Amino acid sequence: MFSSWIDELWYVLGFTIAAVVLGLISGYPLLFLLFGVLTYLGWNLLNLYRLQRWLNEGRKFQPPVSSGLWEEVFNEIYRMQVRNRKRKRKLTQMLNRFQEATSALPDATVVLSIHGEIEWFNDAAHKMLGLRWPFDAGQRIANLVRHPKFIEFMAAADYSKTVELPSPADTGMLLAALIVPYGDKRLLIARDITRLQHLEEVRRDFVANVSHELRTPLTVVNGFLETLNSTSEECPGTWVRPLQLMREQAMRMENIVNDLLMLSRLETDQQTRVPTAVDVADMSRMLVNEAHALSGDHAHRIALDVDAQLWLRGNHNELHSAFSNLIFNAVRYTPAGGEIRIRWFQDQHGAHWVISDTGEGIAPHDLPRLTERFYRVDAGRSRQRGGTGLGLAIVKHVLNRHAAQLHIESELGKGSVFSCDFPASAIIAPPAVTNLD
Ligand code: ADP
Repeated sequence: MFSSWIDELWYVLGFTIAAVVLGLISGYPLLFLLFGVLTYLGWNLLNLYRLQRWLNEGRKFQPPVSSGLWEEVFNEIYRMQVRNRKRKRKLTQMLNRFQEATSALPDATVVLSIHGEIEWFNDAAHKMLGLRWPFDAGQRIANLVRHPKFIEFMAAADYSKTVELPSPADTGMLLAALIVPYGDKRLLIARDITRLQHLEEVRRDFVANVSHELRTPLTVVNGFLETLNSTSEECPGTWVRPLQLMREQAMRMENIVNDLLMLSRLETDQQTRVPTAVDVADMSRMLVNEAHALSGDHAHRIALDVDAQLWLRGNHNELHSAFSNLIFNAVRYTPAGGEIRIRWFQDQHGAHWVISDTGEGIAPHDLPRLTERFYRVDAGRSRQRGGTGLGLAIVKHVLNRHAAQLHIESELGKGSVFSCDFPASAIIAPPAVTNLD
């Protein structure tokens, strides 16, 4: 480029000298100089015009023919254009490949604007969400997928959650949808979970059926074992211990079956049955009496501090089951003479049923897994104390169904606090309130 400039300067110099020399020879130097300058200006204007025309006619690929510095400029622009075209082709190919890959995804993928308007979607979105291209482009997704759960999900804009809904295009298909935000866009991804749902149903039915089928034979076995009273004098000495063990184990099996049935009922019924007014204070008092019986010789000290005016709107049996599991756990896992305290009170956040004990406590790494089925810190100890490993799973399910939450705090060797936190909306006044529509 630099050498072209030098050439150009030489040309200009040569041209000027030639004009001046010719001017001197002919006796009109200024006129010849003016003529030379005007010719040079005209040449530049002509090239400027060619450049503008070439750039305007985007389709014409070859640069205009010229010479000198202008030729250099044309060629440089031409090279830039070639490079840009190549880059553009590469980008388009990449974009096409990306779109092909996204289109081939089995999950429905929809690109949404920040306001939820559809910008692009793949084939699966057409099949699973019933979207049609190009008619639905620019429409708000919540206007097209009208399931109430989905509309609520879009309005909440909580991207950590997923929502399950039946496919608008195929009623037999169940979808799980989630939103991934990126840049100023949102990516809606919906997956077909019909098979998963079916497997889950099969698992639930299987557990419920097995538990149900086991219940009758167990009741019979238990009944006979009760009749075969090992303490009676007719019972031969060698049978005393086996009979006692058989009774204990049969009782354990019955407890497990009952807990499994309770869990499958909680899982199967979508909502808690028609809510009733539950007198939690009274329920706690009765449970404490039972806890004293369970404690027996261990003589736990059980303190009850309850607000009798605080009633809950909920399912009596389910709440009874949850609270009894927590109280019996406290008795089971607190050494003899230990203290157990139950409180039932209200604050600005809602109502709280809290049970604390001075028992053996739970290590921090066990806390997150406690509510899993059959998760025990020490399986042997749990069995020996009559636990089924399902108690806290039941508590969690029951509380979920009451829009409540379970919080556990514990320190090894010091004791544990289990807190059931109910929302203020679940609180009702006693006892005249019977109309709970
Ligand atoms: P289990 O029938 O074994 O008691 P749960 O689901 O009720 O089953 O409890 C799970 C585990 O949590 C228990 O095995 C026990 O290790 C621990 N746990 C529950 N409650 C307490 C408590 N109050 N103190 C100490 N550990 C507890």
